[in-house]
Amino acid sequence: NRKVVLRGYIDRAPREEDMELVDGGAVELRVPEGGGGPAVLVKNLYLSCDPYMRGRMRDFRNSYIPPFKPGSPIEGFGVGRVVDSTHPGFSAGDVVSGMTGWEDYSLITKPEQLRKIQQSDIPLSYHLGLLGMPGFTAYVGFYEICSPKKGEFVFVSAASGAVGQIVGQLAKLHGCYVVGSAGTDQKVELLKEKFGFDAAFNYKEEPDLTAALKRHFPEGIDIYFENVGGPMLDAVLLNMRVHGRIAVCGMVSQHGVTAPAGIHNLFSLISKRIEMKGFIQSDYVHLFPQFVDDITRHYRDGKIVYVEDMSVGLESGPASFVGLFSGKNVGKQVVCVSRD
Ligand code: NDP
Repeated sequence: NRKVVLRGYIDRAPREEDMELVDGGAVELRVPEGGGGPAVLVKNLYLSCDPYMRGRMRDFRNSYIPPFKPGSPIEGFGVGRVVDSTHPGFSAGDVVSGMTGWEDYSLITKPEQLRKIQQSDIPLSYHLGLLGMPGFTAYVGFYEICSPKKGEFVFVSAASGAVGQIVGQLAKLHGCYVVGSAGTDQKVELLKEKFGFDAAFNYKEEPDLTAALKRHFPEGIDIYFENVGGPMLDAVLLNMRVHGRIAVCGMVSQHGVTAPAGIHNLFSLISKRIEMKGFIQSDYVHLFPQFVDDITRHYRDGKIVYVEDMSVGLESGPASFVGLFSGKNVGKQVVCVSRD
């Protein structure tokens, strides 16, 4: 059973060498007897690389999610096939998604957090993005936090990523005017040609973000779906309209930086009566079934498309994860451990 383990805690940007592929020896393909409660042994098929995992590499216990344990496999969302189960809800052959380990086989001791996936026309890995946590984040962030109205002007940062690509498409379906920012020209093309954004720009090529936003939103921004933080947020604040909304989903540019970017334009919150609200998708789990129904329908109707970036092999996990923080991923980053 090969495993990708965290070598030790870090307080800087993650590097590949912070993780190590180790051989965990032969695995017995059954749930061991005499362990605590019911458990499920899963063969991991696809693993998800998500920016929040970086926070779990720090020895920081005051978070909404505990740190990883050095020497133990990295944990994250995954899709796997049940090999053996002592839980009445799961049997061998079932395909499930939920928290698993970066290893070939994982013993899931809290099977109640697993979801059974009904095999369908939708690729299994999509349950880590389009129909998984990032898609759900886009769904609750847009509908529950942004209070969108038809015809409003919407801006999405990190727009080609796992969350951003869905937010932009939901906003288009809602009848909004949508602009996205991303870090390469290839991603900008993807936003306009594949995801149907009205416009997009490469923020790395813009010497003045405030001017770039002014150009794209001459009448101002009603809704900002915030994924990056830092200078982009400051520029957005100057371009918001009165009674605008900012959904603070993430600030990937600020993860672990020793000197977080100062935000200078917060006064706009008052002068423009802006609502700015942070959220965490897991507070909205009651909406998950509705999300799966809605997004599956849109996907089948061809109203939502999805792009993922899949690396192959458990050993590709560390590089794929690290790549999130320099924008190497084009679309949702996943790792294929095994196809069956
Ligand atoms: P992505 O798939 O968008 O991958 C991360 C992307 O962020 C990169 O591809 C890169 O794109 C961009 N990026 C990386 N570093 C920087 C930087 N310094 N400045 C600007 N952009 C940067 O990730 P997700 O869609 O999974 O996540 C997007 C955001 O949503 C993250 O902040 C994440 O933490 C947050 N999130 C929040 C959740 C919640 O419940 N609140 C749940 C899930 C995610 P580019 O090439 O465009 O720069």
